[in-house]
Amino acid sequence: MKLRIDSIKDTPQSFPFAGDDDWKRGAAQAIPELAAEGGRVPGATLRAYRVGQDLLLEGRLEGALGLECSRCLARYRHALLEPFRLLLEPSGKRIPADPEAARSLAENGFCLGDELEMGWFQGHEIDLTPLFLEVVALAIPVQPLCREECRGLCPQCGVDRNRETCDCAAPRDASPFAVLETLKE
Ligand SMILES: [Zn+2]
Ligand SMILES: [Zn+2]
Repeated sequence: MKLRIDSIKDTPQSFPFAGDDDWKRGAAQAIPELAAEGGRVPGATLRAYRVGQDLLLEGRLEGALGLECSRCLARYRHALLEPFRLLLEPSGKRIPADPEAARSLAENGFCLGDELEMGWFQGHEIDLTPLFLEVVALAIPVQPLCREECRGLCPQCGVDRNRETCDCAAPRDASPFAVLETLKE
């Protein structure tokens, strides 16, 4: 999503972004979970205004990830509702020390500092695509769960314990306390 700097006024304005084909294609390529079954490349609602010389951008991304549960291996849809907030100050003649940030400032018209919420801008237009991708990437759970109380697969016979019960004995020895129990006896 590209935003012209001169379209940002002192009073907050909305810049809805349903997402064009370029964004949809690029995002699905960069983050396969968006293209997977159940996934949906997010659109954005954005509000932008000036705070003195600075630009304040805030909004949220709404889409979905198609994930695989780390316990029961079922595929499921993970809703994305990711807020973001960004305060950009004019870079002026400064160049970021970090080469990655310097490249982003030149290519996208903005770069982020050490904190994701602060950065610099330059030029006439900023391209928020990399920010959106970053927000989505950070929202991908490290251990996806189809639901909090998912019981997973039986480690012995492999049945989905959300749907069936099995007769496999609970693996007593697997408990780290089992040894302590025998010591006590
Ligand atoms: Zn599950
Ligand atoms: Zn079993």
